[in-house]
Amino acid sequence: MTGWVAIAGLGPGRDDLVTPEVTAMLAEATDVIGYIPYVKRVAPRDGLTLHPTDNRVEIDRATHALTLAAEGRRVAVVSGGDPGVFAMASAVFEALEGKPQFADADIRVLPGITAMLAAAARAGAPLGHDFCAINLSDNLKPWSVIERRLRLAAQADFAMAFYNPRSRSRPHQFGDALAILREECAPQRLVTFARAISRPDEALNTVTLAEATAEMADMQTVVLLGNSETRFVGRYVYTPRSAS
Ligand code: SAH
Repeated sequence: MTGWVAIAGLGPGRDDLVTPEVTAMLAEATDVIGYIPYVKRVAPRDGLTLHPTDNRVEIDRATHALTLAAEGRRVAVVSGGDPGVFAMASAVFEALEGKPQFADADIRVLPGITAMLAAAARAGAPLGHDFCAINLSDNLKPWSVIERRLRLAAQADFAMAFYNPRSRSRPHQFGDALAILREECAPQRLVTFARAISRPDEALNTVTLAEATAEMADMQTVVLLGNSETRFVGRYVYTPRSAS
């Protein structure tokens, strides 16, 4: 059996932010599995079968990948950004757990440039000191867990990156998250809204926490909250590498 599963990150959007390792793997693959917009980013070619699927079936998608690999196929499971950041890598290992038929599966994880790092690079260096990443979607965890993490991370003065800040099905939660941050942080704390980074409709907007509104974010936005030292130098936002 020569099949494998490669779980790959396609980066934030632009082709030149896809790593050469991922490009080389895609040239070897026989199948590409992933959420529709990510599969669309892979160029079709003879001998390559594309399997675009809906986002809500991550474990089914992972099991499909493992099944095809067990049949000897070379399967690319693609995510945006990095596959280990709120994406498919964990789903594949979750699908593997407790399934002896896949015990000798050849699984590789190929890193990609995650949204928060692409966004931070655009802004300057807002994540230059200690930071954390929080997924604000409560699809897979209770909102109370998110609230607690936000509050404790703010008290510890972490800079933060918020993924999935706001969607049509959860319109109020990002406003609730901002309210918690306003209780814990000074009003002049800097917040960067980084939308569609590295894509044609990219937009970057840094405001104070006092000025931030929930409408400034959507599902294509990653939000970077500075720590208490984060500041502007010229038009760049940066966080010093030392803490006071
Ligand atoms: N695995 C991905 C994250 C998947 S969660 C990664 O590592 O980047 C999807 C969320 O990522 C979006 O709601 C948004 O918050 C963020 N995101 C992904 N691509 C982005 C981009 N090009 N610009 C800004 N945010 C992005």
